[in-house]
Amino acid sequence: MTTIAFLGLGNMGGPMAANLVSSGHTVHGFDPVPDAVKAAEANGISTFPSAVEAVGAAEVVITMLPSGEIVKKCYADILPATPTGALFIDSSTISVDDAREIHRQALDHGFAQLDAPVSGGVKGATAGTLAFMVGGEDEAFSAARATLEPMAGKIIHCGAAGAGQAAKVCNNMVLAVQQIAVGEAFVLAEKLGLADQALYDVITGATGNCWAVQTNCPVPGPVPTSPANNDFKPGFATALMNKDLGLAMDAVASTGSRAPLGTHAAQLYRNFAEQHADLDFSAIITSLH
Ligand code: NAD
Repeated sequence: MTTIAFLGLGNMGGPMAANLVSSGHTVHGFDPVPDAVKAAEANGISTFPSAVEAVGAAEVVITMLPSGEIVKKCYADILPATPTGALFIDSSTISVDDAREIHRQALDHGFAQLDAPVSGGVKGATAGTLAFMVGGEDEAFSAARATLEPMAGKIIHCGAAGAGQAAKVCNNMVLAVQQIAVGEAFVLAEKLGLADQALYDVITGATGNCWAVQTNCPVPGPVPTSPANNDFKPGFATALMNKDLGLAMDAVASTGSRAPLGTHAAQLYRNFAEQHADLDFSAIITSLH
């Protein structure tokens, strides 16, 4: 079994680290927020007063942090303090450029490093069914498998450094566009006198089918577990979709890409997040009437 340093024990990192403990790994954690530390300790994680101390005996270092700036600062602190031979895995959602920068820095210090952002939310983190999108060298990917498996439903090696983050922003840009399109369709259907259930049955059996309707249906009724049945309690919060679309727009700008629908979706979510950051992102339908 492996000694794993886990930095960032928040909504996602807390349950991910707990699953590593349950599968027999030794987990050394750090988080600056006392409540996160308390919850982690209750789940069998040994916590330390600083990131530098938490990585002191690590064979694997996992970061699950809020932003690229924080991950870069954290790497600058811990790279000189981590034992030779450790494998670094960053599961935070950050920009492709930041992911490639920390990869280079880890390599410069002699460490293998992977970007491994996730989808599946807090539910997936708790159940150990996250989808990991991984970027980095083949050898590092093979070495990471045993660590990722207790937290994962699916692990996909997407390519070289940054490819995991690239896959995540592309997927979430598609998801944002689809959730808006599905919302528009249900609003139009209502105005045409078409019942929600009838539209749901047709789309899910036809060419318009996608997760945004089949699982995350934005009107109450057809899918009893969708956030629309629960006052749009997330689910996947608008704030997080807005964050991910910001990263997608950074990537569109830095590559000189054209993404007219993704760009419009990002703008709609930016506006929606000003008032409704805490609602599930399918609540965008309420702005489409
Ligand atoms: P969170 O804010 O709940 O947790 C982040 C934790 O990092 C906090 O507890 C914070 O105190 C801690 N932290 C901040 N600076 C730190 C440092 N220097 N060292 C150690 N810990 C530090 O956020 P979250 O929802 O757990 O998300 C974490 C990452 O996962 C983000 O990048 C997010 O975009 C991504 N993500 C979140 C979800 C989700 O549904 N919540 C889904 C997929 C991906």
